[in-house]
Amino acid sequence: MKITEVKTYSTSYPVKEPFSNGMRTTRERAFGIVEIITDAGISGWGEGASLPARRAIDNNVVGKNPFDYELIWSALNYAGVDGAGIAAIDIALWDIMGKALKQPLYALLGGAVRQNVQAYATGLFRRNVPDHTVALVNEAKSYADAGFKAMKMKVGFGPDYDIKNVAAVRRAIGDDILFAVDANCAYDCGSAIAVGKEMAKSNLLWFEEPIAPDDVEGYLEVKRALNIRISGAEQLRNRWAFRRMIQERAMDIIQPDVCVCGGITEYRKIHAMASANHVRVIPHMFGTAIRLAASMHLLATLPDQPRAHEPFPTLLEYDMSENALRTELALNPIVHKHGVVAVPQGPGLGIDINREVLQKYTVG
Ligand SMILES: [Mg+2]
Repeated sequence: MKITEVKTYSTSYPVKEPFSNGMRTTRERAFGIVEIITDAGISGWGEGASLPARRAIDNNVVGKNPFDYELIWSALNYAGVDGAGIAAIDIALWDIMGKALKQPLYALLGGAVRQNVQAYATGLFRRNVPDHTVALVNEAKSYADAGFKAMKMKVGFGPDYDIKNVAAVRRAIGDDILFAVDANCAYDCGSAIAVGKEMAKSNLLWFEEPIAPDDVEGYLEVKRALNIRISGAEQLRNRWAFRRMIQERAMDIIQPDVCVCGGITEYRKIHAMASANHVRVIPHMFGTAIRLAASMHLLATLPDQPRAHEPFPTLLEYDMSENALRTELALNPIVHKHGVVAVPQGPGLGIDINREVLQKYTVG
């Protein structure tokens, strides 16, 4: 089989009601999507946080055999394409391989540990509303009512906002729901520790990205000072970026994003490194239906960490924010039922792309 063509789509979904995390306000959702076409009549879809340059694609992907995914990964990396760009190509190659073998992607990755994945609702952003606490409490209750047993709230807006609202949401949802917070790197070490000590009283599942993404020493400081799991690394772009973070065990949980960290191929290497160092892996997911599908196949295959009668949940990040490229791009969308998501069963990624929706949100 030979790759005959690679189409790239720069997509953007304009958000109707902008929302904020500790770092920025989101007004659009932008993603790179690729479609790889082969001479066997099979094509595959991939997504990346960015797209590789056309020259890198023409020189290193077109004309190659999709089963040579390691060779293609290395060639793109050598050509200077970062993990986010390589991811778009790599995920499409795995989609093609699954379709060629008529197997779901998880089967190519060694088999599913689980066919259903517990999801946590990601939402609870800061919005332009008169009373943040009331809005957050209502939103959190709506997720609990929808059946979610876990959710995540955005913090990083300063001690007053964070401490007050985390406590209010915890009171509203009760003690039985897993509750994580995410500062999106908005704090320095000292502030993260001070705010973290107060928020920890609300029995948190983890404190995500308290500080800058690559600050290994800083994460060690924060982790040692706080009696709460520290997570992060959604922005790290390949195994070398993860190496020290994992070896120093600077985080309790790493959260590689398959569309940032170099795709499925690189994800497995990062996971192997984390497993050897007893660091948990919980994927980051904030993208289109393609990223959601790829993340589901990875989640199907990640072993319990550690193996136990009541293992720590290997959770899907289920993005509740507004994004038609997640909810409408697949003709067979991946949805939760009472906070649980079934692993896609079709060949490859197991999703069919709605070309009308793709065209509607393609900007280049
Ligand atoms: Mg995050």
